[in-house]
Amino acid sequence: MTGQTPLISARNLGAVFDVSKPWLNRLFAMEAKQFLTAVDSVDFDIPKGKTFALVGESGSGKSTIGRMIVGLQKPSSGQVLIDGDDFFAITDVKRQMAMRRRIQMIFQSPYASLNPRWRVKHIIGEPIKAFDLMPAADIDGRVNELLDQVGLAMSDGEKFPHEFSGGQRQRIAIARALASNPEFIVCDEPTSALDVSVQSQVLNLMKDLQRDLGLTYLFISHDLSVIRYMADEIGVLYLGRLVEVADRDTLFDNPRHPYTRMLMDAAPRVDAFGRTADTVAGEIPDPINKPTGCSFHPRCHLAVDLCKKERPEVREFGAERARVACHLCETEAELA
Ligand code: SF4
Repeated sequence: MTGQTPLISARNLGAVFDVSKPWLNRLFAMEAKQFLTAVDSVDFDIPKGKTFALVGESGSGKSTIGRMIVGLQKPSSGQVLIDGDDFFAITDVKRQMAMRRRIQMIFQSPYASLNPRWRVKHIIGEPIKAFDLMPAADIDGRVNELLDQVGLAMSDGEKFPHEFSGGQRQRIAIARALASNPEFIVCDEPTSALDVSVQSQVLNLMKDLQRDLGLTYLFISHDLSVIRYMADEIGVLYLGRLVEVADRDTLFDNPRHPYTRMLMDAAPRVDAFGRTADTVAGEIPDPINKPTGCSFHPRCHLAVDLCKKERPEVREFGAERARVACHLCETEAELA
C-alpha cells in the first residue's frame, strides 16, 4: 500500500494506565504505584479507501487503539494524524467538531450501543442534529435514505431497538455511523456478537458501503477469517505491541512472527470440519509485569537466550516489506 496518501496515521502511539491501589492502602502495604502499558509504540498508516485490521487475543490492546484513533481516549504518548493533522493537538472547538464528524465508530454490541428508549429515526438522526448538517425539516428524508442504504425499511424508523434482531440492530448502528457522512470508521469487533449466518451479511454490507462511499476502515477483530475477508493490511498485536504488519496476502501466505503462526494454527479451517482446532498455546502474561526482552518468549517454542534479555526491534523483512519484531527473523534475513 505504499505510495498512497494515508488518511489516518498512528505515530508511536502509547497508552499507559495507573492501576495503583488507593494511596492509603499503598502506604500501609508499602507498595509502589503500578502502571499498565496497554499500547506500546504502535505505528501504522491507513490509506484512503482501505481497511487496516488489528488482530490479537483479548487484552492485546486492540480496542484501546481504536478508542484513541477515534478520539475517545487521549494517548499517553505519540500522535493520531488525520490527513496529517495531529487530532489531539487541535484546540479550536470548530476544527475539533469538523474532525470528529469525519470519524465514527461501530461497537461490538448492537444491544448496548443503541439507546433503548429512542425510536430508530431519532437514533440515526441524532448525529445529523449534533453536527448541524442540515435543516431540521430535511432530517427525516436523510434518515430514510440511510435506512435504505443499510437494507432496512422506512417504516423501521418508527420502531424501537428491541423490536429488531442482532443483525438488524447492527445495521441501525451502521446507519447511525454513516449519518455524519464520515470518511473513516473504526469497527470494533462489529460482528462478533452475531450469529455466523448474519455475520457475512453485515460484512458484505460494510464492504459494499466502503466501495460505494469510499470509506476507510480500522477493523478490529480476534477472528482471522473475518480479518482475511475484510483487510487490505493487517497488524498483529501482542501485549500492546505490533509484532507483525503486512498486507493480507503476505501475512496469510507467509506469516513470519511465531505469534502470528500460532494464531493461524489455532484458527478453524474449512478443511478441518469435524476436527477440534488447536488452541493458542499458553496464556497472555500479566500486562502489569510483562516478561523481559521479547514479551512473547514464555510462549514461544523458538525462544533463545537473547529473547529473554533484549526486546526485538521492528524491522522490514522480505520484498513485501513486512514489518516484524522477532530476533529470529533478523537472523534469517542475515542468513539469506
Ligand atoms: Fe520468539 Fe524470540 Fe522471536 Fe520473541 S524474539 S518471537 S521469543 S524467537
